[in-house]
Amino acid sequence: MTRLTSLSRLLAFGVFSAATVVLTGANPAQTSKDISPAQSASEREAFFRAQPSKPGEFRATWCHSAYGIEGWGWDRTVAVLKTNGFNAIIPNLLWAGLAHYPSKILPVSSKVQEHGDQVAECLKACRKYGIEIHVWKVNHNLSTAPKEFRAKLRAEGRTQKSKSGEDMDWLCPSHPENFALERDSMLEVVRNYDVDGVHFDYIRYPNSGVCYCAGCQERFEKAAGVKMEKFPEDVITSQQAGKFNDWRREQITRLVRAVSTEARKLKPRIKISAAVFRDWESCRQSIGQDWKAWVEAGYLDFVCPMDYDGDNSKFAESVRKQVTWVNHQIPLYPGIGSHKLSGPEQLVRQIQLTRELGADGFVVFNLTEKLATEFLPPLRLRVTSASPKRPAGSQ
Ligand SMILES: [Zn+2]
Repeated sequence: MTRLTSLSRLLAFGVFSAATVVLTGANPAQTSKDISPAQSASEREAFFRAQPSKPGEFRATWCHSAYGIEGWGWDRTVAVLKTNGFNAIIPNLLWAGLAHYPSKILPVSSKVQEHGDQVAECLKACRKYGIEIHVWKVNHNLSTAPKEFRAKLRAEGRTQKSKSGEDMDWLCPSHPENFALERDSMLEVVRNYDVDGVHFDYIRYPNSGVCYCAGCQERFEKAAGVKMEKFPEDVITSQQAGKFNDWRREQITRLVRAVSTEARKLKPRIKISAAVFRDWESCRQSIGQDWKAWVEAGYLDFVCPMDYDGDNSKFAESVRKQVTWVNHQIPLYPGIGSHKLSGPEQLVRQIQLTRELGADGFVVFNLTEKLATEFLPPLRLRVTSASPKRPAGSQ
């Protein structure tokens, strides 16, 4: 264990006095451009203390594990966010074919029997520490679904097919039963738990070469009032291509619209959000993810483009464009990929860029023990010391 890690552990557990914090020199390989490896512990501490804080912003992490940080449980996982000045968590508690709570709609993870209802566990910790919970759904992607469930869907013609006829373990979004499955599973969470929001992810096609299944042909022909002689060739190269692209994109958008509309009827204060690809202009064409249109239509309450980049100037370039696209219609919380960064100094730099460029907060990917013990504790020396946005529903 490096001295920095040991120190970060002390910070994580809140057993230090701020006056005695000493940040030791980091491994040069983990050092960002913003700080030299030769800098002393006191210089590193001075670096973190010199970074301004910003009150009233949204500070969250995604948590890919449905059980909190491995070995920590939800109480300790959520507590570490509170300790370090964060106010929200986006935990991945359901997929297209798997739920980590007793769902009546999706197959339930076998771990739920042993570890209990993870939405309830995470929610309890969030309420205890005053942290917002936005339940993260991985849409369409069946990679974690039980084998039998995937096979059943494949046999029923409900999974995607590529241009070249390859089967994909993704729900075909135009299939009416898939649409209902995706919608109803998200609404089940809204209905059964007092969560602050639901969060779309993988709300798109896997790539530009899908879906060209027989069901998509039939449903497109019906919607467009045309008959395709050669499919998929005709919708790729003929005059139908533009119409097909619009229809294909609508198969994704209609799910966002339906969940947003129905969830707000169930719980008017619920927040609808999405993790989206960074370049809206290209992703609306390639993967059918027209997120700027979702912002403009009012379907989303906030949006989180995944700007994971080890290059600060490319990160800034993405955020700059996104601020223009979102245009303050809803809050913009850029996603920062800690796995691409050299260390906490670079995380600080990217947080400051979100502030300088006019975003309303940020979401860090991904909450692991490393993030909790090495990246987050230095932030509270100043960067996250100003009070964040109040949790939804608080006075
Ligand atoms: Zn299809």
